[in-house]
Amino acid sequence: LERYTAPIDDERGARIGRLVVLRDVTREREVDQLKSTLMQTVSHELRTPLASVVGYTDLLRTRPLDEGSRAEILGTVHREAKRLSSLIDDFLDLQTIEEQRLQLTLAPFDVGELLAESVAVFGGQSEAHTLELSPCASPVIAVGDRSRISQVVANLLSNAIKYSPDGGTVRIDASCTDEQVRVSVSDEGLGIPVGQQARVFEKFFRVAREEAVRVGGTGLGLALAHDIVIAHGGTMGFESVEGAGSTFWFTLPTD
Ligand code: ADP
Repeated sequence: LERYTAPIDDERGARIGRLVVLRDVTREREVDQLKSTLMQTVSHELRTPLASVVGYTDLLRTRPLDEGSRAEILGTVHREAKRLSSLIDDFLDLQTIEEQRLQLTLAPFDVGELLAESVAVFGGQSEAHTLELSPCASPVIAVGDRSRISQVVANLLSNAIKYSPDGGTVRIDASCTDEQVRVSVSDEGLGIPVGQQARVFEKFFRVAREEAVRVGGTGLGLALAHDIVIAHGGTMGFESVEGAGSTFWFTLPTD
């Protein structure tokens, strides 16, 4: 609370009281805090990949390199550029959602098909993890924004891979009732300490640990995923045991 005070005098100048105005500045403080976190995240997360794009393209320009090294460097540059582009998408999404302008294009889509597609994409990207998909017995049709739901699944899969050691298994399960489908992504990774679990869906929140520096991230993915699921009338949650693994799940109403 911010406090302003001023004396109140009568017409003869005698003090008859004091005016006290209390203003709740919680919201303003929160916005300031968010802005400074945003600046830190932007400067760190954008500069690292940019620095490597600049460094590597310089190398390509100035050094005679054999075909193999060129291909490897180009691969890195491409990966870093893609990382930058998805980071910018996250920042823009955050802005859209904050201003409550998230527009969903709703249409029926096959959930099992979307999951198979996501698993194929991520399986191709990470050879170090085994991805196991167990879909519902029969095709499940949900009504939603397919590309947004695909973003949610991608976020959960990428976290499961990012926060678990090589050689781990990531399971994607879908279970269905008449009214809803529940998709869960389980890993055998780092898990989340109990004391920090309550903040996992907060914007910019990242569990404080050494690996966080190495794997990189903005702490926006889950906050956005959560907002997207809620906007679809679904729910999202997780169970996690530090050192053993996590299961993140969400539900969607079905057709
Ligand atoms: P980030 O960009 O940091 O990955 P997210 O919003 O996707 O941001 O996740 C927020 C934080 O929650 C992560 O920084 C990480 O500490 C924790 N987290 C998310 N998913 C997992 C997981 N599967 N296992 C362990 N920790 C996780």
